[in-house]
Amino acid sequence: MSELPCQGCKGLCCGPVPVTDQELKTIKKKIKAMPIKLRAELENQQRHYGTCIFYDMEKDKCGIHAVRPSVCRAFGYFSNMVCFRQPSAAGAAPWRAQAPSVGLLTIDFTWRDFK
Ligand code: SF4
Ligand code: SF4
Repeated sequence: MSELPCQGCKGLCCGPVPVTDQELKTIKKKIKAMPIKLRAELENQQRHYGTCIFYDMEKDKCGIHAVRPSVCRAFGYFSNMVCFRQPSAAGAAPWRAQAPSVGLLTIDFTWRDFK
């Protein structure tokens, strides 16, 4: 699997993403375990309209990388989720969710749901 050139994108492809019930629980745990100051800094950042609520604009990376949803892990590597900056990284097979989504992060679930 080749690396994607994500540095500098500033969360370009990080918009609302589908999450499963299990993923939500895992993210909640991670957010609750964050030091309060760090959590507040991440929460209160200015983001572009539509950018994922967990994108860390200051560090230019996902703020919950270790527990990001499976769709985020898959992005760029499947035929139905091609990264326009590196299309060659995408395989021929389409990505399919392993579990049903319960809603969209950023639209259906916001910071209020993680406290
Ligand atoms: S997956 Fe592609 S568009 Fe998204 S941050 Fe990485 S290089 Fe940028
Ligand atoms: S959870 Fe992380 S990788 Fe997924 S869309 Fe949000 S910021 Fe991007």
